[in-house]
Amino acid sequence: MFEGLVGFVREIYQTDAFIPLHEPRFGGNEKRYLNDVIDSTFVSSVGPYVGEFERKIAEFSGARHAVATVNGTAALHIALLLAGVRPGDEVVTQAATFVATCNVIAYCGAEPVFIDIEAATLGLAPAALAEFLERGCERRAGVVYNKTSGRRIAACLPMHSFGHPCDMAGLLTVCDGYGIPVVEDAAEALGSRIGERHCGTFGRLGVLSFNGNKIITTGGGGMILTDDDDLARQAKHLTTTAKLAHAWKFEHDQIGYNYRMPNLNAALGLAQLEQLPAFVDSKRALAGRYLDWARANGAEIVQEPAGARSNYWLNALLLDDAAQRDAFLEYSNAHGVMTRPLWTLMPDLPMYRHCRTDGLSQSRRLAERLVNLPSSVAI
Ligand SMILES: *Cc1c(COP(=O)(O)O)cnc(C)c1O
Repeated sequence: MFEGLVGFVREIYQTDAFIPLHEPRFGGNEKRYLNDVIDSTFVSSVGPYVGEFERKIAEFSGARHAVATVNGTAALHIALLLAGVRPGDEVVTQAATFVATCNVIAYCGAEPVFIDIEAATLGLAPAALAEFLERGCERRAGVVYNKTSGRRIAACLPMHSFGHPCDMAGLLTVCDGYGIPVVEDAAEALGSRIGERHCGTFGRLGVLSFNGNKIITTGGGGMILTDDDDLARQAKHLTTTAKLAHAWKFEHDQIGYNYRMPNLNAALGLAQLEQLPAFVDSKRALAGRYLDWARANGAEIVQEPAGARSNYWLNALLLDDAAQRDAFLEYSNAHGVMTRPLWTLMPDLPMYRHCRTDGLSQSRRLAERLVNLPSSVAI
């Protein structure tokens, strides 16, 4: 099976050279817009492309506001601060995620609590979340506290793994019942929808990433999505050093951050965004080919959840067990086809080893079996 799958990937990408997991594609107006920025000299934090990129992302996602940042991690940091996360709080999130999801909780001086994911979405499981809040937490004066740690549960931070949407209806029902704000890590989910609604627009705030490995790239970049006018205004203010608008005076009314996306990056992003619908179509077609291969070979591929339309940012193969997973990782990488396992679960990393979990049985089972397959837009 290993040899067959590696051959199949080579057939898709039609090359004998090394095949990366995900590489960007620049087939549109990238050079034209970048030249325009260089000619204008406005390469940094001032320039028309940033506003234009924000408007186009808002339009595409249906979010009322989009605020561009230097990267997705910075966007998540600000989103958590705006959701009200403070030092000493706890934030409920998933253990199966990229480390940035968890680091931003620590940047706020808060602690992550790791709740299990579900197999259907690879995202935070509403049932596991409900059980933790019901059994492990108590409400005092309308505020939810972890009974074991005594800390306030300030926010819930689910992540749409590989572009597959989480069960947002389920998560929002649970969180709304406890008055806990939801911030969506939609870094991998640009172009993914539940029904007609775009990922990152269900929670109070949502975040996108345009890192080089994501479905579209600005080199480095991120975006904060929200429907709340006041939060959007604060997001813009905090990411631009909290500077008060003035023709020549430098006045700042709080400790802000230099997190604004440069014009140069926004120009690249705008050119990439023009190609996003074609990228999504291509990636969904690729996922279909992997699925056909899996069906013909008795293998299992992760599919989009029912009722959702995934961007299929990364395809995932589920093998029988850890031994088979490791054998496939060895074989494919030795044969020039890049594959990788699920991220090391967050509480298995030294800096989060002390954090509380709900046992994470499903996360551990999936982590043992999952391998990501090459998923760049195919020619
Ligand atoms: C890429 C990614 C981020 C961070 O985005 P950067 O732009 O690289 O800072 C955060 N969360 C998840 C799940 C990601 O995949």
